[in-house]
Amino acid sequence: MDRADIKSMSLSELSEKCRAFDLPAFRAKQIYKWLQVRGVASFDEMTDLSRDLRGVLAEHFEILFCSIKRKQVSALDGTVKYLFELNDGELIESVVMKYKYGYTICVSTQVGCKMNCAFCASGLSGFVRDLYPSEILSQIHAAQNDLGIQISHIVLMGMGEPLDNFDNVMKFLDIVSNPDGLNISMRKISLSTSGIVPRIYDLLEKKLQLTLSISLHAPNDEIRSRIMPVNKKYGIDELLKACRTYAKTTSRRISFEYALISGVTDTDECAVELASKLKNMLCHVNLIPVNEVTENSFKRPGAERTERFMGILENNGINATVRRSLGSDIDASCGQLRNRHKKGEKSVC
Ligand code: SAH
Repeated sequence: MDRADIKSMSLSELSEKCRAFDLPAFRAKQIYKWLQVRGVASFDEMTDLSRDLRGVLAEHFEILFCSIKRKQVSALDGTVKYLFELNDGELIESVVMKYKYGYTICVSTQVGCKMNCAFCASGLSGFVRDLYPSEILSQIHAAQNDLGIQISHIVLMGMGEPLDNFDNVMKFLDIVSNPDGLNISMRKISLSTSGIVPRIYDLLEKKLQLTLSISLHAPNDEIRSRIMPVNKKYGIDELLKACRTYAKTTSRRISFEYALISGVTDTDECAVELASKLKNMLCHVNLIPVNEVTENSFKRPGAERTERFMGILENNGINATVRRSLGSDIDASCGQLRNRHKKGEKSVC
């Protein structure tokens, strides 16, 4: 018999299961807390449940978790990058960053990715499968338990395309923000997408208070389609129209990620065009000098070019910052660690 994935259950689903087992209502909350707050990997760790009950639970349910396959700690800023192994042996990555306001975790939502962006290491070895809600949650549990910390912010910016795993990601958001679980408010969560337009409208319907991040990376269809194949399906005007609707309806500022690639996306013309496309939108642009990955030849521009690009945006009334690059000594950009591991290379730390 296949055992059900208990950590992917909402509190109300778990309560229903407990009722079916004739367990009192408080048991559901108790079990939920073990799973979602303490992040235990086995029923045996639920020490305030009887041995018999633990046995019954283990017979019917499975706890999916992440075990640490490899861990790298940045000597520069303490950023921690994990390569996690899932119950079926698949590998995913997560990164924990320390900021003044607390710890942020960047989680993966899929094993591999279908989007194939030219500059990104995640899609290189193709798409394997979606992550279950429990597996997205387990990245937080594993990191918290390993580091002895409490994560306060989440970015869905690891491996995978969150809106291509829509239902599981929505379930994850529901569970992670539950007051009886990790209780991380939507305002402290950012979801990043390469721009699957119909799913942006679906997300809008949910009326969540999270921050929507759009990986824009280019100001027009010609350049964007070259580096992001998704743009051939959903062009930039369609995408920006969805963003404007999203910002207007939710009153939440959209965050645009824009990778500066030398000679491709970092020119003055690009900056001017970008500013005109984003005019009068409630938004912010995050400029990211591209992380150079060994598998492609994209180069990051120098500091001067980056400053100039930002200056043009600001002179045109667009809010912009340059993203502080954390963990640059530990391959902390999506997919790099998993690829190295698969190729059998040694890690840097
Ligand atoms: N699929 C989603 C989630 C991945 S988020 C998305 O595309 O938004 C990861 C972020 O890092 C995205 O903005 C992605 O475009 C960016 N990224 C990937 N590889 C990068 C690289 N080499 N340098 C800079 N940013 C990169």
